[in-house]
Amino acid sequence: MTNEIYLDNAATTKAYEEVAAVIADSLTNNYYNPSAFYLPSIEVEKDLSKARKKLAQSVGFLPEELFFTSGATESNNTIIKGVVDKARGNFNIITTSIEHPSVMNIFKNLEEKGVEVRYIPVNSKGKLDYNWLENNIDKNTILVSVMGANNEIGSINDLVRVREIIDNHNPKAVFHTDFTQAYLKTDDDRLNLKKAKPDALSVSAHKVHGPKGVGMLAIRKGTKVSPLLLGGGQEHHFRAGTENIPGILGFYTAVEKLDKNKNEVNDNLKILKDYFLDNIKDIPDLIINSPEDGLPGLLSVSFPGIKAEVLLHMLEAKNIFIASGSACSTHEKDSYVHKALDFDKLRSEGTIRVSLSEFNTKEDIDTTTKEVKKGVESLRKLTRFNK
Ligand code: PLP
Repeated sequence: MTNEIYLDNAATTKAYEEVAAVIADSLTNNYYNPSAFYLPSIEVEKDLSKARKKLAQSVGFLPEELFFTSGATESNNTIIKGVVDKARGNFNIITTSIEHPSVMNIFKNLEEKGVEVRYIPVNSKGKLDYNWLENNIDKNTILVSVMGANNEIGSINDLVRVREIIDNHNPKAVFHTDFTQAYLKTDDDRLNLKKAKPDALSVSAHKVHGPKGVGMLAIRKGTKVSPLLLGGGQEHHFRAGTENIPGILGFYTAVEKLDKNKNEVNDNLKILKDYFLDNIKDIPDLIINSPEDGLPGLLSVSFPGIKAEVLLHMLEAKNIFIASGSACSTHEKDSYVHKALDFDKLRSEGTIRVSLSEFNTKEDIDTTTKEVKKGVESLRKLTRFNK
């Protein structure tokens, strides 16, 4: 769409042109199955290996420790269910109370089946209670799953500290991180993967200008985990199904590009985010939900007295796209994340999320903040907020 302002990059991103070109080539020219034995297939297999090597290296894993999946949802399902499937006897699993539904709903489902589940509480800025974790991890804990960055408010978790706690209390527990929102989005040292050394990590390609429907799961050698999908021997006999080669090569191409200039891109996102906040700071009763040390390109704010969905549609009429809360939880009635963050009803209903990408400009922010101000003012008149 021409002249659109797309500010929902935590939901998904526009693919780079180079990504689209690689996918088209893979579909129509180099479409061979990498498992076949003729020369063009062997070439495809080589491309697959190149992508695996680069993507594994980007998260500090070995190529043979990386499995391509259909996205972070599958990666999260595979690791959580796969670790639990291998467990015997008395055990518990731990996660945070603000995970993405693709982690949270698995934990809830396992809990319903009788697994003992423990949820790390957070404060209203999404900061984990690390002391709680110290006190609640024990010798029966088999899995600790902590996301890198939260998709609703952009808070960043201290994975290095989580690793220390695990090592101090039960080094045998598998440490998994859903790294989907954090991947290539910040160089924050709390997410330093060399220090945090997670045993397993999930990522999705479409958050970094790659295609939808492809992702990766990295699992450290020696980690005991059952496969989710059974079938052919693809992906080192761990993830059956013909590899999504166009998707994987698109993923690789996106990462090649973003990885090179991510620092510059992320610095600029922070400038745009601060500019956005500066432009709206005089809106009465504004609540900033995102912590100051959160993701550079993600901002969650609340305007009590308005319904975020209505504001969203007013902006849509101007060709501006933002999210209310999180796009991933629009199917949920109440946001369990907002509950965990202790938002009251008015704050929860009036929450919007703006998430930026390198395609956004200062002009986008000027236009959007002007419309947000107008929208909030007129909606509050309707609801007689503060009257
Ligand atoms: N985890 C987080 C933190 C996410 O933000 C998302 C998508 O929004 C996912 C997992 C799921 O990714 P996908 O839809 O690609 O499976």
